[in-house]
Parts: sequence; structure tokens; C-alpha cells
Amino acid sequence: MKILFCASEASPYAKTGGLADVVGSLPVSLARLGCDVRIFMPLYRSVRERTGTTEPPGRVISIPVGLHEYRAALLEDLTAEGIPIYFLEKDEFFDRSYLYGTPTHGDYEDNAERFIAFSRSAQQLCSSLGWYPSIFHLHDWQTGLMAAYFQLNWRYDPKFYRSGTVFTIHNIAYQGVFPAALFRLTHLPPAAFSMQGIEYWGQCSFLKSGLVYSDYLTTVSPRYAMEIQTADFGYGLEGLLAEHRDNLSGILNGIDTEEWDPATDKALPATYSADDLDGKRKCKQTLCSGLGFSKPDYPLLGMISRLAAQKGFDLLEKMLPDLMKLPINLVILGTGEAAIQENLEQMQSLYPDQLKLLLKFDEAVAHLIEAGSDIFLMPSRYEPCGLNQMYSLRYGTIPVVHATGGLDDSVVDFLDDAQRGTGFKFYRYEPKAFLASIRAALEAYEAKEHWTAIQRRAMSQDFSWDRSAREYIRVYEKVLERKKKLPGRGPDIADV
Ligand code: ADP
Repeated sequence: MKILFCASEASPYAKTGGLADVVGSLPVSLARLGCDVRIFMPLYRSVRERTGTTEPPGRVISIPVGLHEYRAALLEDLTAEGIPIYFLEKDEFFDRSYLYGTPTHGDYEDNAERFIAFSRSAQQLCSSLGWYPSIFHLHDWQTGLMAAYFQLNWRYDPKFYRSGTVFTIHNIAYQGVFPAALFRLTHLPPAAFSMQGIEYWGQCSFLKSGLVYSDYLTTVSPRYAMEIQTADFGYGLEGLLAEHRDNLSGILNGIDTEEWDPATDKALPATYSADDLDGKRKCKQTLCSGLGFSKPDYPLLGMISRLAAQKGFDLLEKMLPDLMKLPINLVILGTGEAAIQENLEQMQSLYPDQLKLLLKFDEAVAHLIEAGSDIFLMPSRYEPCGLNQMYSLRYGTIPVVHATGGLDDSVVDFLDDAQRGTGFKFYRYEPKAFLASIRAALEAYEAKEHWTAIQRRAMSQDFSWDRSAREYIRVYEKVLERKKKLPGRGPDIADV
């Protein structure tokens, strides 16, 4: 089965969040299971810095966007795991410091043009390679228009007659909505600007394009697949998703179990395993002395997160005065919205002994916090899947989570089931409920033999990508089964 992953991020080339982790990891498992899988993404500045490969220039293509005809190049490389990866090189669009916008000025003004160009170029990539995927696996709003181009145009090319599209929603809050006037830039037929198409309250929604025109939709946890069909979580698209529910599945993300393995992790001062947790104590010591906590023996609570409203910082702020009365330390690693950052800085100045703030994006520090903390906090208001709670489980750092989306699917509440419990959950999105859950975790922490049992259970959970990859293959097969039933002999096509 030939699969082309089209996405705006892929780890380690360019990353702002979990999307990059998925696109960096899932293809590796799919390849291991026998798929011919390749990746296509923009050549951002960070990609060039990593690969350094710009010469010799790859295939040159021409991409129409509105009245412009942009010349761009297609470059290729192999990932460290041997997956072919292709880049759209168009420096005018992608040679920038950030992926989608700057922290001070917000989204780039030409994001519509940038991702129309990227979306249109996927077909030319396939033609120039002479490689025709059976499945275009699209991710998030940046690739939503590809589904429309495929459905309204590319599929009439005999080479794609029995191919299909699968669209994965990583976070429905990010929709790529642009003014109606930009519709003309897409060159889609006028009928596509309608309720049945990409029109959304008088504007163009690239995410809606992905939802409407793809053959099958997935999202990154079973619970989130249900939640986005409700008004509380669907961000206006709940009705549409409920209509498509027979073609919508939730597949829990995996984690990179090699990168995130406490037994081999090179970022740690000492490694450890479920059988021998000694190294974890050393990690805590290193982390606490590095951060300068005055009482390093207190239980250490960790948090690693984009500083965004989604992540539950409002709850944290409200309960922090009460939390700081407890004998605990808290470390937060994160970057993002200025308002949240300022609030956190203010809180740090109030509780300098117990609260340490690291305002940077630093993967090595993220590893040390996962290993050195005792308890990990994820009070997200909503969380499509979430990765850090799974890293935490693997590192024996017991998560306290809001029971939503992938957090609910990946953590078993100790208070619900003491035999199977791997963490602590709170069910109402309220500061008191969050604090009560932390208190319950601290109580269990004090009962050392319970705690070690929870840690060992957490560390033995299977969050490997192979499990998720098998579920994705079932989805691809379902789509291709339908395509086999298309009338006519069909062209000589995509070997499916
Ligand atoms: P989201 O995609 O909503 O940001 P996820 O939990 O799915 O949330 O993924 C976040 C990813 O980004 C994780 O791999 C996490 O470790 C990483 N991350 C987030 N903030 C930082 C940071 N400041 N430093 C290092 N890694 C971070």
C-alpha cells in the first residue's frame, strides 16, 4: 500500500506541537508493517538548517495561486529511519523564523496563499516522481484543501482513480479560516464555496474542506472523536462531524518509545527501568539542584506545555495559592501566549522557593522533567490526544489529568480502580477538582509501596506506534475497499 503523508510539520524537521510527533513517527511504524510510505512538507528555514540540502535544485514546478504563477522546487531526502521525505521549496513562503506566525504579530498574513500553494503542489509531486499513492493521508487545516483538490480534480486523473483521502484532525480548534475574498486564490469551482463545501459562516475554512471532501476522517483519540461531535468541543463543526460519524474514528496516538525510554535516555544523568527505579531519584536530584529548590525533598510536580488557554493554566492560576500551601515543588516548562507567560512570571515572584518557570522550548530539559518529577500535571480544558501524559507514564511520573480526550483514554484513575490505576483524574473542569486530584496523588505518594506499584504499572503500558499503525491500516483498507467497487475497469493505476 502506497501512502503519502502530507503535513505542515514533521519531527525532527519542524515542530510546534504533537502533529509533528505523529508525522515523524507513524510512517516509521507503517513502513515496518509493509507500507510504502512517504512524507511531504514545506521546506521551512528550520528544515534547511537541519538537512542543509538545497543543492542541486530539485524538480522545478509552477503553482497557480490566484493570478500568480509561483515557481517552486521539490526537494527530497531520507529521514533518519529511511522514510523518503519531500519538501516544497518556496522561500518567499517558507524561509521564515516561525511556521505560522510570530509571537508578537500573530499569524502570517499570507497563510492562505502559503497553504494553497502547498496543497496544490502535492499532485505535481506525485506526477514528477511517477509515484501514485493509494492513500493521501492529510493532517490538519494546512492540508484541508488537498482533499478538495483531490475530490474535485485529481481523482479524474486515471492514476488516482482508485486512490483515496484520509484526513486526521489533530486539534479542531485550529481551523484555517480566511476571508471569502481569498476563495478565488484556490481556483476551486464556484460551487465549492457553499455550505456543502468550504464555506463557513461566509468565510473559507480550510479545515472544513478536509472534513467535507475526504473519504474518511480520523482523530487522535476515541474520546475526542466523540467529544468533537458535541457543541462543547466541536468549535462549530459538531453538526457536520455528527453527520460523518460513520466515517470517523478515534485512534490514540503512540509515542516514540525509543526517544522516550528511561532505560536508554541520553538526556538523563542516570537511566532507570520499572525493575530498578534508583536512577529516577538521581534525575530528581539533578533537576532540583539545577533549578535551585530550597527544599529538594518535597514531591516534585512537573508541567511541560504550550502556554495556551487550552492547556488549563486558568485552573492552575486559581488554585495555585492553595497548592503552594502544600509541601510540594512545581516546575513548568513552556512557551506561548504572552498573557499566560506574564501571569506565570507573577506567580513565580510570589512563590520563588516552590515554583520554577522555564520559558523556553528545550527538548533535553523536557526529558529531564519527565524523568525527575514525581507527578505530572495536565489540566487541559480539552486535549485531542496529548503526548506528555504518555511520556510521563513511561517514565513512572504519575499523571494528574482532566478526564478529557486522549487524557481520559490513556490514564486509568487510581481512585476508580486501585488494581489497574496508572494516574489520577478529575472530571469537572474546576480548580477545586484539580486540587483535590493532586491531593489524592500526594496521599498515594506518601504510601510508598502503593506508589511504586502505580509507577511500575504505568511504566508497563503499551503506547507503541505499532498498535496505532495497525488501526490506521484498517482505515486505509476500508477506504480502498470502497474504491475497488468504483464502476468500470478503472485506469491501470495505483496498485492498491
Ligand atoms: P500539543 O500538540 O497540543 O502542543 P501534545 O502533548 O500533543 O500537545 O504535544 C506537545 C509536544 O511538544 C510534546 O512532545 C511536548 O513534550 C513538546 N513540548 C511542548 N512544549 C515544550 C517545551 N517548552 N519544551 C520542550 N518540549 C515541549
